[in-house]
Amino acid sequence: MMNIKKRKILLLNPPGDKLYLRDYYCSHSSKAKYYWHPYDLVAQSGFLAQEHELVALDANVLGLTPEEALNKIREMDIDTLFFLTGGVSWRMDFDFVGKILQAKPEIDEVITTGDIFLSRSTEILEKHPFISAALMDFTSDVLLRYFRGELKGEKTDYITYRWEGQILEGRRYTEDKEFEMPYPRLELFPWRRYRIPHGRYMPFASTLTNFGCPFKCSFCVSSIVPLKLRKPENAVGEIEYLHQHFGIKEFWIKDFTFAVNKKQTKEFLELLIAKKMDLSWVCLSRVDVMDEDILELMSRAGCHTIQFGVESVSDEILKHYHKGVKPQRVREVFAFCRAHGMRTLGHFILGLPGETQESALQTIAFAKEILPDFASFNIATPKMGTPFRQEAVEKGWTSADIDVLDNSVAFPVVKTEQLPPEEIWKLRNYAIRSYHLQPRFIWLRLSQVKTWYEFSTLIREGFGLLASTFQPMKSISEESDAHG
Ligand code: SF4
Repeated sequence: MMNIKKRKILLLNPPGDKLYLRDYYCSHSSKAKYYWHPYDLVAQSGFLAQEHELVALDANVLGLTPEEALNKIREMDIDTLFFLTGGVSWRMDFDFVGKILQAKPEIDEVITTGDIFLSRSTEILEKHPFISAALMDFTSDVLLRYFRGELKGEKTDYITYRWEGQILEGRRYTEDKEFEMPYPRLELFPWRRYRIPHGRYMPFASTLTNFGCPFKCSFCVSSIVPLKLRKPENAVGEIEYLHQHFGIKEFWIKDFTFAVNKKQTKEFLELLIAKKMDLSWVCLSRVDVMDEDILELMSRAGCHTIQFGVESVSDEILKHYHKGVKPQRVREVFAFCRAHGMRTLGHFILGLPGETQESALQTIAFAKEILPDFASFNIATPKMGTPFRQEAVEKGWTSADIDVLDNSVAFPVVKTEQLPPEEIWKLRNYAIRSYHLQPRFIWLRLSQVKTWYEFSTLIREGFGLLASTFQPMKSISEESDAHG
């Protein structure tokens, strides 16, 4: 057997000037005070711990300054760095990694992962020679094989890496495969500190039943990551392991679209119900993959909240951006969830090209009509790698030079013919305030509180969200300077 170097790897979530969420190829900053696991690193910890020594530092959730984080890293005995980054903060992250490499010249491999690599990994590796490889799929064992030296110049789907002076580009194009993952080494991370705004209990854990998404919504980076399904027994096994070893009963199933495959989902839910673990969980999905059978099984298996992308009520916008969801189906599914005691979170996008003042106000009115238990109003952002970005650059709605993007607390970066950025910003703030300050919404949320954790989260998140609507709109150059 080949002699494999046992590496000492630091799994790093870099520090930031805000709370940055950069996992699962979608980066933005936390709108209020929630902060979840850097899931790419957590998922990879299960693989890498099989053959290497690991240490983890989530400098962002610990609130460490770059100097404090660097001081901790100086003390570590490591030869490999694996860090998470994203379109929202990559310049700052790369700068920080540069400082680590100056302080620790013994580091001879720098691996990274994040949304910016899904479409531009070769270009980024060319410009930043300190990066040895970029991982494109954190559910794969390709990094283990890379460290074993097994890739030997072969192109693989899941990693872009250097080989004999060349950069070999990986791309996720393999469709419809099943996968399994080893259980994560959660104890390496400050797992008790992570929180989600719609969770019922602390601490919670993140998990997956599938990876990628088969839908093609052109504003979403997930539309370029093909779907693969996790074996139900492996997904349930991980939940059982986390429940038994860490006492966790709250889970966030992070699938881009839960229940996308009915057969696999039914198997997963029936297995979960049979385990009788008394769990509580939340997931993301689409109204058009839900049916009454699945919703009933989800409710029996402990699902208490489902997040849905509603996006807009305008038919033209939904059609142009390939969302393919009908407002009538949204009404039906939201009503069905309420009748079965499951809460809903509606995601809405304001300011997509084609948006007018009237259509934005209609979307806000629709949100008030269906009354999700949580509503998230975001500004259209041409994220790197999305067909929307390509369209926006081609049509001059945004500049190709804008490469630090955040749709959570940030300002509009797309000019539409109908609405200037200042108007989109005002509409976003109006949506958040007018939705959350409705008496019937306040009553609804207060009447649902079951635990002290939920009550404290409601108050903290509510204030944080409303406060974000009073911040001034910055220009994109101000934000880019902050990251430069
Ligand atoms: S269904 Fe959701 S995750 Fe999939 S491409 Fe559309 S917005 Fe993205």
